[in-house]
Amino acid sequence: MRFSRLLIPTTKETPNDATLASHIYLIRGGFIQSVGGSGLYNFLPLGKKILDKVHAVVKEELDKAGCQEVSLAFVTPAALWEESGRLEKYGKELLRFKDRKENDFILGPTHEEMMVNLVRQTVKSYKQLPLNLYQINLKFRDEIRPRFGLMRGREFLMKDGYSFHDSTEDMQREFSLMEETYKKIFTRLGLEFRVVEADSGAIGGSGSKEFMVLADSGEDTIVVCDGCEYGANIEAAVAQPKKYDTQTEVKTIVMKALYDEGKSVHVAFVLPEEIELQDVKACNAVDANDLVECDAGEKPAVVVIEESLGAAVDPGQFDAEEILYADISSVKEGDTCTVCGGALRYTKGIEAGHIFQLGTRYSEPLGANFLDENGKSQPMVMGTYGIGVSRLLAAIIEQNHDEKGCIWTKESAPFDLQIIISNIKEDAQVTLGESLYEAMLAKGVDVLLDDRKDRFGAKMKDYELIGVPHVVVIGKNLADGMVEFISRDGMVKEEVPADRIIDFLSERF
Ligand code: ATP
Ligand code: MG
Repeated sequence: MRFSRLLIPTTKETPNDATLASHIYLIRGGFIQSVGGSGLYNFLPLGKKILDKVHAVVKEELDKAGCQEVSLAFVTPAALWEESGRLEKYGKELLRFKDRKENDFILGPTHEEMMVNLVRQTVKSYKQLPLNLYQINLKFRDEIRPRFGLMRGREFLMKDGYSFHDSTEDMQREFSLMEETYKKIFTRLGLEFRVVEADSGAIGGSGSKEFMVLADSGEDTIVVCDGCEYGANIEAAVAQPKKYDTQTEVKTIVMKALYDEGKSVHVAFVLPEEIELQDVKACNAVDANDLVECDAGEKPAVVVIEESLGAAVDPGQFDAEEILYADISSVKEGDTCTVCGGALRYTKGIEAGHIFQLGTRYSEPLGANFLDENGKSQPMVMGTYGIGVSRLLAAIIEQNHDEKGCIWTKESAPFDLQIIISNIKEDAQVTLGESLYEAMLAKGVDVLLDDRKDRFGAKMKDYELIGVPHVVVIGKNLADGMVEFISRDGMVKEEVPADRIIDFLSERF
């Protein structure tokens, strides 16, 4: 591809809503374009090319693991979400609208209902199971605070996969296969990541793992152990319980728990003074859709006591309809690992993927049943597996950039190689640049030839901003028979004789 023909609107200006490197460089490098500053983006040619490359890696590994790609209708009838009971629960992130006949629709934020609907119409017997179907398609979530560019958009590209089984054991086998497959995908993309225990959130079900790309800018806090492989999202992390006695100072936090149909209950959470309440664990303990702050004077109907307090707190002192014990503690740095006794610490991650053991949460209400070997009807056992494909572009740059711009990894790079003709008025530079370009294209190397009229300095700045892994610079030194080969990571330079450059590149690509 010739730079002079390509739409790459690079700019020096940092968008004023951008703080993260990935957000700044994806805009400045002309990869994406914001649409009205509201979590909506257009992908320009280079951004689309990278998206397709990431897409291809994801697809290749999934297909190798026996998954089958489908493409579901984008607009989802709300009736399907009524069947699963999620229409109300999902709240304001769900974009709802009517067609001209007043039928209700939503834009899918995730597609469990749609996929179960597809399968219940086509699969009837255990002989057709197991099945793992996926799509790589747009999702829409009306995020309260879309931010950080592709990291948290409202419209984004997700790989969402769903598997269907005749037993829990078989679903767990597939869950492990998907864990291994996801590891291959993130490794091929050149990412440093960690697989951690996770909370299952609004999707429901039990047993889930997240794939966290390690980066200081990550929105998720993850708890890791220095002594072993243990890792968990703070929302699901556990530590060895401490021993408490009746002298322990405790505190009570009252919150309003929200349920379907506008119902709410005041809940008191009782825990040791020095421990912080973990919101997600607290919400799960009372099976609520959400927890919100409330006036201090409210009398709670439910009391949840941190389970490690045990006999240190007398439950008789509470005048409540219900008293529960649960793990509602936030793990602190320095707490003890339950696996190996080592010390736990915090690190930051970007959630790039999430896999769930779903069970029959959707197949039961939606009636996705199969006939087993004995002719008995049973609900299918499901797993579900997501990857934030567009978020991955941001994650790759969060991990791979410097003060000048992007450093794309091998399998995500928009081109394998760039060639810069420093001064297109110099015939010798043009001749070598053009012949090198043709030779590399003929070898199947994806090359970007910077053949623009601009000054050399501007071309080099664009090279550093865009971040193609390697560049050949044909400049003044050509008079002495030399060109430069530079690797973007570290801007490591090598002088190469011009008459050897084709051989030199052939060895590398
Ligand atoms: P988060 O906790 O970051 O809001 P989530 O847990 O709601 O994400 P899932 O429902 O597990 O997300 O969706 C699967 C994947 O889709 C996530 O692992 C993430 O990579 C990606 N994703 C989720 N929300 C967004 C978004 N608003 N923009 C871009 N990617 C997203
Ligand atoms: Mg998730």
